[in-house]
Amino acid sequence: MIILHLSALDKVSTQEYEWELTPAELGEGGNESLFIKAVFEVNAMKNRQYDFKGKLCYGLKLKCDRCLEIFSRSFEENVHFILKKDYEGNELDIIRFNDLACNVTDYIRDIILTSVPMKNLCSEKCRGLCEKCGKNLNKGACGCKKQEE
Ligand SMILES: [Zn+2]
Ligand SMILES: [Zn+2]
Repeated sequence: MIILHLSALDKVSTQEYEWELTPAELGEGGNESLFIKAVFEVNAMKNRQYDFKGKLCYGLKLKCDRCLEIFSRSFEENVHFILKKDYEGNELDIIRFNDLACNVTDYIRDIILTSVPMKNLCSEKCRGLCEKCGKNLNKGACGCKKQEE
């Protein structure tokens, strides 16, 4: 769960956080937690409003579309949101809280899930799988290839 504690925030400050999203919170059916580092410039404004501007850093395991191997890729996403006490509107980047802490789990999870590209390649030079025998050609040529030459 990602909870931002607001009582210690005063005026303008830089805040660093380390967060963990559990598989259940990610809701992706995986079994590994996701670890996130976040850095924000926080501006505590009048009327219990907090402006968070910064970035999230995390690594995701993705499946290559060409060779089907799992590979890791690191992401750096810029984020900007506002926490507003007792907010009643429906702006996407304004998050309501009602006491001294704000649960931003869903908001952060959604940013991470939408950052995953539709297409993923382990490398620009990925050679993919052999159409005939299915061998991963990044790991060496297969017999079929030789026959064509
Ligand atoms: Zn690949
Ligand atoms: Zn082959």
